[in-house]
Parts: sequence; structure tokens; C-alpha cells
Amino acid sequence: MAKEGKTANDVLDKDDLIVISGAGGFIAGALARDLKERGFRKIRAIDKKPVPEWYQVVPGVESLCMDLSKKENAIEACKGATEVYNLAADMGGMGFIERFRIECLRSVLINTHMIEAAYRAGAERYFFSSSACAYNVELQNDPQVRALKESDAYPAMAERGYGWEKLFSEMVCEEYWHERGLSTAIARFHNVYGPYGSWDGGREKAPAAICRKVIEAKDSGDMKINIWGSGEQTRSFMYIDECIKGIDMIMHCDDLIATPINLGSSELVSINELVSYAEEIGGVELEREYDLDAPQGVAGRNSDNTFIKKTLDWEPSKPLKEGLAETYRWIEQQYHDRKSGKRTVS
Ligand code: NAD
Repeated sequence: MAKEGKTANDVLDKDDLIVISGAGGFIAGALARDLKERGFRKIRAIDKKPVPEWYQVVPGVESLCMDLSKKENAIEACKGATEVYNLAADMGGMGFIERFRIECLRSVLINTHMIEAAYRAGAERYFFSSSACAYNVELQNDPQVRALKESDAYPAMAERGYGWEKLFSEMVCEEYWHERGLSTAIARFHNVYGPYGSWDGGREKAPAAICRKVIEAKDSGDMKINIWGSGEQTRSFMYIDECIKGIDMIMHCDDLIATPINLGSSELVSINELVSYAEEIGGVELEREYDLDAPQGVAGRNSDNTFIKKTLDWEPSKPLKEGLAETYRWIEQQYHDRKSGKRTVS
């Protein structure tokens, strides 16, 4: 049986320069923290948001504010890099990606400039954060969906805007390996959640939004919850720590060069179940109101983990109930901090 894959510890020197884009956001912020805590001394974190607005600023990490959709900034960002992790994208939850398709598509500029800059800088490895939204939407019309395997991206009929950008950028990463020999890694994330992510303001995803709504209902005493869609849509949700572990193993696995792979949980739940979990954590039961006109995305989506299990002998497996409890507590703290005038993530 294969054993769990190689990691940055096995292939990098602690003084190799690691460049992480989108580091003012949720996943790349957690990645920068993880690598720093594991002893890597030269990490350059970049985001277009001003540094005081980052979700996490990691002490000892070089933190820069730059718009990486501009070629000259991408070149500057990648100078001297051994590894580049590109997680920068203009994105958000369903409400954002259905409404701002042009913004989502324009993220193509970030990957296009970053990969060329990484290649010219002589980087050894390049990571691209793709998405389950790259899959053919016609395979996701039923809440009792068959889990999506890697080959289901083609024939292509990705989610409009965001999904097509991911699919095209994946192809760019594949060709930089085939034509130019740059070692690229491509992970298709399925809904990532956890502390230090957006939880209010329009870019938040379902788990954070539902936790916030339960917390708001308890705080206001108005014991109702507004749910987007019928609540019967299904998804799987991956806890942030497992996403970070998966990124590391995928980036350093020789069998996965230029090969898109699912990185997600295969625990399928409906949005109604997600609401029940959050209510249970909050110790309340709310009256449910369904907004059938709200953005709700595909009817069902799950991650088929056959390939990742076979290749890395690992898959994300943290039960949603456990990860959601940690997320709920963090959002509750954020909610009360904001009420008392403190600075918060959202
Ligand atoms: P996020 O919005 O928290 O972080 C993305 C960051 O990129 C933001 O801080 C944003 O300011 C930055 N950014 C946007 N445009 C930029 C630019 N031109 N130059 C520099 N920085 C720029 O999102 P996240 O949840 O951390 O997602 C990270 C990556 O993972 C994205 O590529 C996203 O598409 C992908 N992804 C995330 C999920 C999920 O569930 N969170 C699912 C699938 C794929």
C-alpha cells in the first residue's frame, strides 16, 4: 500500500524562499502560518488587500500588498522563489460567484502572470488552487449526486465565470509542465471552511453564513433562519487544516505533476443538515424560511476520493460536526468582538 506522501519538510531547505499569493485571505493565510510554524524561514506572503485588512498576519513572514494581476508585480513577487503557491483569486461564496462572473474570470490574469513569473524566476514547483466548480455542471443536477471524479471535468461545461477561469488556468498549469518543464500541482478544492475565513459581508460560504445566522438569531431573540434555496442542495465541506495538509502533499508528490486532483471531504450533507448541526452547536432550534430566489448553485456536489486515496493513501476525514463546532465558536467570538468595537476578519 502507498504511504502518505512527501511534504515540504522532505524536499525543501528551511531557507528556500516560498511565495504565497492570496495570503491576506482564508486558505493562503493558514498556509503561511503552517509553513512558518514548521520552521521555514523565508516566506513571502502577498495580497492585493492592504496588510492591516488581512485575516491573519503571521509574524516573521514578509507580508506585501501587491496586485498580482499586473505582470510587473508578479515578476517582483516571484523573484528568488523556490516554490510558488498561487491562491489569489477574486472570489466568494455562491452569492458572489453568481453575481460577479467578470471579476471571477479576470482572476485568469493572476495565474497567467504568476506562472510565467515563477517559470522565469527558476522556481522548482508551482501550485494552483482550482475548484470543484471546474466540473461539468450537467453532472450535478441531483442532490443525490454521484461523487465527482477527476475525469468528470471533460467534456467541459464548467460553472459560468468562476469555473471556466479555473478550468482554463488548470490547462495553463498543465502546459507549463509539458512544454517548459515547470513542475505544477493542481488541486480542485471542494468547499473549505474553518476559523479565519470570511463570515459576513457577501463573500462568506455556507458553513460560516449558517453559523453567523444562528448566532444572530440567538443574539436578537428573533428565532428564525433564512436559508438560500430549498435546503435540499447537497455539498461536502473540508476543514481548513486538512486542506493545508493536502496542499502540501499534492505539491510534493511526483506522481501528481500537472495532474488535477480532488481535495475535499466525501461526507455529503444537505444544507438542511448543515443548519441542524449549527443549531445543535448553538443549542437552539429555529424556524426555517426558504428563499427560493437566492443563489444556490448546483443541486448536489461531492468529492470522489478514489484517486487521492490511491495516490497519497490519505483523504480529508474530519467529521463536519467537529470542524463546524470549532468554526462556530470562532465566529461567535468574532461576532461579539465586532459588537464591542474590536477589529475582526469580516
Ligand atoms: P479568499 O477570498 O479568502 O482569499 C483570496 C485572496 O486573494 C483574497 O485575500 C484577495 O484579496 C486575494 N486577491 C484577489 N485578487 C488578487 C490580486 N489581483 N492580487 C493579489 N491578491 C489578490 O479565498 P480562499 O477561500 O482563501 O480561496 C483561496 C483559493 O482557493 C482561491 O483561488 C479560490 O478560488 C480557491 N478555492 C477556495 C474554495 C473555498 O471553499 N474557500 C473552494 C474552491 C477553490
